[in-house]
Amino acid sequence: MDRSVALDDLAVATLITDGVQVVAANAAAAAIAGRDLDELEGQRLDDLFVPPDAPPAPWLVDGQEPGEPPPATGPWIHEQHLRLRRPLGEELPVAVVARSRPSRSHRGVETVLMVRPLGGAEGDASGMEVVSTVSHELRSPLTSVKGYTSLLLSRWSRLSDEQKKTMLEQVHHDADRVTRLVNELLDISRLETGHLQLRCQLVSLPGLAASVVAKVALEYPELECGLDFPDGFPSVVADPDKVEQVLTNLVENAAKYASPTGMQVSGAVNGDTVAVAVSDSGAGIPPADLPHIFTKFYRSDQGRPSGSGLGLWISRGLVEAHGGRLSADSVVDRGSVFRFTLPRDGARRR
Ligand code: ADP
Repeated sequence: MDRSVALDDLAVATLITDGVQVVAANAAAAAIAGRDLDELEGQRLDDLFVPPDAPPAPWLVDGQEPGEPPPATGPWIHEQHLRLRRPLGEELPVAVVARSRPSRSHRGVETVLMVRPLGGAEGDASGMEVVSTVSHELRSPLTSVKGYTSLLLSRWSRLSDEQKKTMLEQVHHDADRVTRLVNELLDISRLETGHLQLRCQLVSLPGLAASVVAKVALEYPELECGLDFPDGFPSVVADPDKVEQVLTNLVENAAKYASPTGMQVSGAVNGDTVAVAVSDSGAGIPPADLPHIFTKFYRSDQGRPSGSGLGLWISRGLVEAHGGRLSADSVVDRGSVFRFTLPRDGARRR
């Protein structure tokens, strides 16, 4: 049996190591680590995990010195709680069990690590935090749906067609908001457990960007957002719903936190990668806040319109699941640019 296929069939994040670095990994491990498989393979374990307070590290089996290959096939090593270093300094609490076994690639002995993200009571308080933040965010569209539908039912014959239409449009919009929040919740757990499924197909990014801008304009009628994609911009293989979610988050954030005027969505092609940038001419993000905006629940401007602080964290996860990158640059008093890349031929090795 092809070993790499078997590894990828495992839903549990699994790393095969030579005791020093990762020699193979599956897609679930790449998702948890927030890295491409190519990038994950070859990572030093000391760099990937924050070393445990009480050594030895789980990838060091009995009798193995740090930096040396494992000596022999050993029993499963008891679960240890460690922190997995994700790109940009984020640290994910994880439980790791390990076992050494004879290598099937003539490398002597290898260690298999199974990694499980810790959540809820075992890890940080993220589970409860998600519930309370999202419940709060759900309340306002649901209150509005309840209010408008009650009005429509009790005063149906006294309302003009125009009034009914306005109320129904608001209900329609609020229902979309609820759906989005629920999808965000599902995405959080899928991203954290590495179970996000991409439904990739050919996507025209200029077309998608135009439709996102038109939708956001329903909410921000004063929106002025230019579109700048070079002629013949190539289609990419991606999950259109996920890319739409990312673009919507970036365009909405620019309208909400920066300024609905002076925005631009532009595209660029760079070899086998495309990049899409959403730029705004708002007040910019202070340098001290910039490194944190992709962190779960981070909101730099508490006084401004409500938000969960999850949008950018999820967007980054969705872009990375495609094998791309999402980053931000900002100049105070000038504005910000959020840029994401996507491989043209779809998620690599996922
Ligand atoms: P939220 O759900 O609060 O909008 P996000 O993760 O989308 O969460 O954004 C995190 C924080 O980053 C926001 O609360 C806001 O303070 C800041 N932010 C995001 N986009 C911009 C922007 N274009 N200009 C200024 N600040 C921004």
